[in-house]
Amino acid sequence: MNTTPAPTVRSTVHGYPRIGPDRELKRAEESYWRGATTAAELERVAADLRLDTYARLRAAGIDDIPSNTFSYYDQVLDTAVLFGLVPARFEDPTAASGADGRLGRYFALARGVQGAPPLEMTKWFDTNYHYLVPELSPDVRPRAAGDKPVAEFREALEAGYRTRPVLVGPLTFLLLSKAADDAPRGWSPLALLDDLLDAYASVLADLRAAGAEEVQLDEPVLATDEGRAALAHLERSYTVLGGLADRPRLLVSTYFGSIGADALRVLKESPVEAVGLDLVTDDEGVADLTAVSGLGSTRLVAGVVEGRNVWRTDVPAAVATLGTLLGLADEIAVSTSCSLLHVPIDLDAETSLAPELRAALAFAEQKTREVALLGRVLSAGTADGRDTGPAPAGAAFVDSRVRARLEALGPDAYERPQERGAPSGLALTTTTIGSFPQTAELRRARAAHRRGELGEQEYKEVLRAEIDRVIALQEDIGLDVLVHGEPERNDMVQYFAELLRGYATTENGWVQSYGSRCVRPPILFGDVSRPEPMTVEWITYAQSRTQKPVKGMLTGPVTMLAWSFVRTDQPLGETARQVALALRDEVADLERAGIRHIQVDEAALRELLPLREEKRAEYLDWAVGSFRLATSGVSPTTTVHTHMCYSEFGLIVDGIEALDADVTSVEAARSRMELVEDLGRRGYRRGIGPGVYDIHSPRVPSVEEVEASLRLAVSHIDAGGLWVNPDCGLKTRGYEEAEQALRNMVEAARRVRADL
Ligand code: GLN
Ligand code: ZN
Repeated sequence: MNTTPAPTVRSTVHGYPRIGPDRELKRAEESYWRGATTAAELERVAADLRLDTYARLRAAGIDDIPSNTFSYYDQVLDTAVLFGLVPARFEDPTAASGADGRLGRYFALARGVQGAPPLEMTKWFDTNYHYLVPELSPDVRPRAAGDKPVAEFREALEAGYRTRPVLVGPLTFLLLSKAADDAPRGWSPLALLDDLLDAYASVLADLRAAGAEEVQLDEPVLATDEGRAALAHLERSYTVLGGLADRPRLLVSTYFGSIGADALRVLKESPVEAVGLDLVTDDEGVADLTAVSGLGSTRLVAGVVEGRNVWRTDVPAAVATLGTLLGLADEIAVSTSCSLLHVPIDLDAETSLAPELRAALAFAEQKTREVALLGRVLSAGTADGRDTGPAPAGAAFVDSRVRARLEALGPDAYERPQERGAPSGLALTTTTIGSFPQTAELRRARAAHRRGELGEQEYKEVLRAEIDRVIALQEDIGLDVLVHGEPERNDMVQYFAELLRGYATTENGWVQSYGSRCVRPPILFGDVSRPEPMTVEWITYAQSRTQKPVKGMLTGPVTMLAWSFVRTDQPLGETARQVALALRDEVADLERAGIRHIQVDEAALRELLPLREEKRAEYLDWAVGSFRLATSGVSPTTTVHTHMCYSEFGLIVDGIEALDADVTSVEAARSRMELVEDLGRRGYRRGIGPGVYDIHSPRVPSVEEVEASLRLAVSHIDAGGLWVNPDCGLKTRGYEEAEQALRNMVEAARRVRADL
């Protein structure tokens, strides 16, 4: 027992999920978009959700409650709107606002309207959340144009909560924005910093006037190389904002990794009152703090409860960390490592998880209680944390067979022979990425099957009928390498997670992906193995319906991890190898069943790439290794395909070559095939399928358009290695448009082939 009087340690969180425990926000928004309900009705649901969140946080024992963490769509979009940074195409009131004024225009920015395509959407750091990318140019003048933070602060205050409003910080906002198309070449949004700081100053003054004592400015960009390199801008930002006369206290919060001693020193020396650090994601936070000789009188908001994964906190370990931190700042507060936006709301909503697994889990609700508990333990000075319940279950889910098999693998399990059979013998082979449109009928059948209303045999018949239709359609269109269309898959990760041992799925574990779209990431909790074949029945059925080759479809190990909550008790690479081994068995079964083309999708290879350069080699090593383990068992005449949903080749081209797939299909349509030029210059020799049209848009490309892309491509690389395909799966499209687009694509390939 510690007898010296302990400091009072307050508890807080960086943010909380905003979709609601029952996805109320999603439902209300979609109903409003359909025109079934009014803006006022949507606003009422939103206000209820905000107040419910404050009530939950208070009930959990959180001392300092954040506000303005709610968003109708995205917090970066909110920030752009707050500062009046709206592209001119949305200014036309008739085109964009419609009858609903503010809310209508806001959603127009996110979703587009006739004549005004939406802002681009991209990944929020290395999470599965997507933000909207503000478009800035030298002509825009940031100004305090909106009142959302103030209005939400007042709303909370009236309900009895003096909250801490949260804003995206100026540096993060500018570094996440892009130069508009009409901005001069080489112009950077950072050029707007001073004007933007004036606008922040005005919002801070308004918040102060409304009664806010502290405001949180989120600067996660400091966890990236780009942010760490912008030290002068960081210093400028917080010298200016910290130097304002009558302002709330400022908490600059950082997350998704350590920020490095240099950025930390800048923040320590700037006139802000508190700094938030992520002490979970990597183990550099304490070292950084030590390197700057502690924060002194700047308060440390210590993110010791993992905010973006679902495991219980090891409370005694967190108490020990906090004990160390008490020596590195005069005052500390306990927090989550980042906003809880990235985890489901409540574990209590799950009814069918195995008890041993449940005991190891904590969702947002449970995490807030952990944070509050840690605050109390620290305040009471019981630094041993003995009275805090069991530690997380850890590696309790061991499968010794899997471990033995992995251990027995030699280096040859990762290598394919370099001499291979000719992959296709055709120039400009046409194919697709895998999924075909998922019709309402199909989705209804799946839902009925899940509820037990449609029997196993009947459901399988529906799927077989769908495969028949997809195969017949592809033959009719004249595609060369066919697919079965993936009708049996609800989702490319969840489908496999349901069939693999070591994985659990949730009933209500929804997490916002973007806007109203939510996903339910499965939980990879233990050693992974494959009890039985997962896709063979469907692929071989499809193959039995045609003379043309049918391509087998699997989701790769990295993507299986990226879109799941993954155990942290062993390195990710080890877990990836277990998934890879299960896939390797599936690949072998497909091959044995006569399948000659096998595609292993790594849609998320880019996404898991560490934010910082120095960590990337290690990542690529295990990412590539696990892909090769999954695929290298095939005979030299089997063609291994992979697919990725992006084409930032510069970043990982070496990694992609290292995958050693015979054919890689990627997105290229939106970047006008620039990729192919780069590949040509590099002397890339493997098969490449640069997506010739954008499936994310309902627009059907013309034959001439695809033809022009293909002619461009064959001018740069050998037509023998060039594959012709859309840039992603077709599951979100309708049949009519998908069919027409594919017909045009095949015709374009025919024309170009004729001239070779
Ligand atoms: N094979 C998957 C499909 O076609 C790939 C999806 C993806 O890349 N996101 O749906
Ligand atoms: Zn894709």
